Amino acid sequence: MKAEKKKCVNTLTAVFDSVSENEALARIIITGFITRYDVTAEILADVKTAVSEAVTNCIVHGYRDKPGKIKMSAKIYSDGTLTVKISDRGVGIDDVKKAMEPFFTTDAQGERSGMGFAIMESFMDKIKVKSAPGKGTDVTMKRSIRSHN
Ligand code: ATP
Ligand code: MG
Repeated sequence: MKAEKKKCVNTLTAVFDSVSENEALARIIITGFITRYDVTAEILADVKTAVSEAVTNCIVHGYRDKPGKIKMSAKIYSDGTLTVKISDRGVGIDDVKKAMEPFFTTDAQGERSGMGFAIMESFMDKIKVKSAPGKGTDVTMKRSIRSHN
């Protein structure tokens, strides 16, 4: 028998302003999107944390606390996979590989630990970062949200 092809069963697109209050909004939106798929509390917490880190990066680094729009797109597939893409059209990243190294930060105030990408990588199954200086950044994360996987 042929293996069943995975299908996209639900999609979400949300666009919101780059203000810190919207970190909480992004967590609420993603929670509402995935709770009906019977996710465990642990998986939900992981996804919310990863989304929060990506949105915070858009606000503080992408737009440097200036006004801008953040787009969150999410998809659920028939095999229980969730993908979430967080995009900004801010300053972009010169060296993505370096930016993703644990403890790497461009924060000069010493308030940030440079662990955002490391957290996203450990809480999700896969993360892909596409960025161009002056154009913005797309972070796409994947996670199986089926508890028995
Ligand atoms: P922390 O997340 O621990 O508060 P951090 O934000 O500096 O610290 P990461 O989230 O790992 O650490 O990001 C590493 C670096 O990548 C940032 O310091 C910044 O230079 C760059 N970066 C990350 N996201 C973006 C973005 N959306 N736009 C521009 N630069 C970014
Ligand atoms: Mg960060």
